Amino acid sequence: MSADPDWRPIFGHAEPYDEQVDGIQAAVETAREDGFLALEGACGTGKTMLALTAGIHLVRDPDSRFERVFVLTSVKQQLRQFEADLRTINANLPEEWRPVSAMTLVGKADVCPYNLAGAGDIDDDTVYERCEGLRERTRGLTEETTADALAAAARSQQVGLADSASASGDGGGATYLEAADEPTPYPRDTPEAAERDVEYCPFYAQFLADLPEDGHPSEAVPFDPTGMGIVEPEDLVSLAAGHGSCPHSVMGALLPELEVLVGNYYHAFDPTTVRAFTGDLVDEDTFVVCDEAHMLEPRVRELVGDSVSDRALSDAQSELSRVIQPLAGPDESLSLSRRFASTVSINRCSVPASQHLSRSSPAAAMLQQQLYHRECMSKAEDANRRASRHPLEDDIARRPSSLQHNSCFAQHAIGKKHPRSSNG
Ligand code: SF4
Repeated sequence: MSADPDWRPIFGHAEPYDEQVDGIQAAVETAREDGFLALEGACGTGKTMLALTAGIHLVRDPDSRFERVFVLTSVKQQLRQFEADLRTINANLPEEWRPVSAMTLVGKADVCPYNLAGAGDIDDDTVYERCEGLRERTRGLTEETTADALAAAARSQQVGLADSASASGDGGGATYLEAADEPTPYPRDTPEAAERDVEYCPFYAQFLADLPEDGHPSEAVPFDPTGMGIVEPEDLVSLAAGHGSCPHSVMGALLPELEVLVGNYYHAFDPTTVRAFTGDLVDEDTFVVCDEAHMLEPRVRELVGDSVSDRALSDAQSELSRVIQPLAGPDESLSLSRRFASTVSINRCSVPASQHLSRSSPAAAMLQQQLYHRECMSKAEDANRRASRHPLEDDIARRPSSLQHNSCFAQHAIGKKHPRSSNG
């Protein structure tokens, strides 16, 4: 039996293996000394329960500075294992202990009431972009009115519809947006601000209205998580959206209040996610459990790195030489090469550069007709022979620059079809 029996009530099974006892002890002692523990074990040896027991024990120890356990796992099956072990721990805690509060971090697609109801012109593919636009417009509107007034206006649309239906006795009227089988206070469609024709999100408006000016964002959480144990996504949606607030925003406000958070590598290493969402969660008060840590380096490299292959660079160089050298004398060729090099970044397709060249000089305008993606080369040559016009020129003119792909060199390298080749 352990020399530190304090953690024993947290351990969710009848008897720990000897290896688990050693592991929990080592993890607790290492964390108290601000160290890092690399722990290896075969499948089924109970590493998940071991890590949770050590972390929760430290979080509940009043003499320890740890305030939360943050689990990072990149494998969904493992994420489910952490959730299952948390349920086991809660089910076997001494009766007088409160359950361990925990939550798995999920994306907007999983909790946005509009997305879940298939309403508001929002679906899995558009939810992130639509949400950002709606939030921005909602914040913009609060410069002229209050967030409270925006949420109240959306509620009153439903009240008005319900009143007129009961007055006319036709049984029609309000159709409430439902999420997680619970009605929300708003209509199915996103509302527009009166006399402004500006679409906004009433759930986000309600969240902004609930945020205290000087207090802690957790005051905007419209329910008490104490005693709930694991806050499941369905609970989050029905409790937050039922109150009229955005479940994803409420999730962000709730995070610092919970003892265990289960996320993935994005939540700790993706700069955008960290900046917008989880930045405050990883500090010296956090007991971090990194599952599948042998995958950490390649996964994080994927997240934060840009890459281009030698082959792609060499292809780009030979394409440039092929275009520039035959059409310019040595001096002009050199000068064009320099100007061209200044406009071509290694992750840009050559098409925007060709547009730049067309503005540079008459010689460069001639180059434009021959400067195109390598995989379009044969079709383009045929077309040029027939009409002295590259078939992609129309395509280029039709597309805004934001739609021009920015990874064709990488696609060269992995042998994928150029996205425009289907248009050429
Ligand atoms: S703010 Fe919340 S409720 Fe509104 S669109 Fe975004 S995720 Fe959905």
